[in-house]
Amino acid sequence: MNIHEYQGKEILRSYGVSVPNGRVAFTVEEAVEAAKELGSSVCVVKAQIHAGGRGKAGGVKVAKSLEEVRTYASELLGKVLVTHQTGPEGKEVKRLLIEEGCDIKKEYYIGLVVDRATSRVVLMGSEEGGTEIEEVAAKTPEKIFKEYIDPAVGLQAFQARRMAFNINIPKELVNQAVKFMLGLYQVFVEKDCSIAEINPLVVTGDGKVMALDAKLNFDSNALYRHKDILEYRDLDEEDPKEIEASKYDLNYISLDGNIGCMVNGAGLAMATMDIIKYYGGEPANFLDVGGGATTEKVTEAFKIILSDPKVKGIFVNIFGGIMKCDVIANGIVEATKQVGLNLPLVVRLEGTNVELGKKILEESGLNITAAESMADGAQKIVSLVS
Ligand code: GDP
Ligand code: MN
Repeated sequence: MNIHEYQGKEILRSYGVSVPNGRVAFTVEEAVEAAKELGSSVCVVKAQIHAGGRGKAGGVKVAKSLEEVRTYASELLGKVLVTHQTGPEGKEVKRLLIEEGCDIKKEYYIGLVVDRATSRVVLMGSEEGGTEIEEVAAKTPEKIFKEYIDPAVGLQAFQARRMAFNINIPKELVNQAVKFMLGLYQVFVEKDCSIAEINPLVVTGDGKVMALDAKLNFDSNALYRHKDILEYRDLDEEDPKEIEASKYDLNYISLDGNIGCMVNGAGLAMATMDIIKYYGGEPANFLDVGGGATTEKVTEAFKIILSDPKVKGIFVNIFGGIMKCDVIANGIVEATKQVGLNLPLVVRLEGTNVELGKKILEESGLNITAAESMADGAQKIVSLVS
């Protein structure tokens, strides 16, 4: 789960990790009021959307008076920001962070992520902050430093100090930077983050080290033990299809392609996406209906796929084990009865109750292309949508 920058900064602040003073605003009046309360001669007006790249897209404005705060706030609220992370459709700005301006001496990058290769949390840092870290990694990988963290003892001060020296934090500020990194690591572990990225971390003219931006992501599987984090969820920022799917406990992720996929089991779902791509197609979604899905759940899953205007054809790939093929077939029939079906549909069924499943589909009168295998099904749906 993703949260807004201002929410991430609230969490950091509560752990003593240094961030500028700021307030959230939902309206222009609130923005001006927030700037008054901050009482700073320079304020920064920052669009709050669940995507980075706001700076380059005009979503971060420096205001030198309350009038400028008002101007920028009215410009930004309601605006659709298109950044390199939002996709071409962009995201509408509904919240702003009004923050005390600060005198930036230099921008750095600090991030914590889970490294799958070593199964450890890794601290990454670079003195090329502010810009896209992906670009630094691609062009000048030697400018990114890493510290792998032993989960038994956590991030050690000597590692944080080595990082601070590697990325050339001024000597007199190394202790502050170390405290910052240790605090960030504590947040990461205690709140079950999957990413904690500070870009930029800044050193200011008056000798402070602080987070000017904060991107925190949380492991959804751990949210049950973080009610406080769940409160930060902003449904406006999420794909409505994914919200609908989560109500029915379906594992659904929207993608950019045009082939809707209904599959049981995450592994088979991944393999299905791979094989569609192998035959030159593009999946429109990842969907694992799970093992013990009911007809109702399958019906909802199929309706969610059909509600996506990008979808030009559907591939149902089921290996019935715990999941029974007749339940899937009934779900498909029920969903198409409710919302209709004008798209090509390729179905590959194997496993428990496969004969019954096939019979239900045959008798439904739906225009279904049967597939003999996964490869056969993938080729058929790819040729039907192209
Ligand atoms: P992102 O582009 O979405 O990652 O948004 P950031 O919060 O990282 O802001 C982008 C850039 O705007 C930063 O690298 C800074 O150079 C600048 N910026 C952000 N906050 C402030 C601030 O408080 N004061 C000043 N002067 N510049 C800021
Ligand atoms: Mn940033």
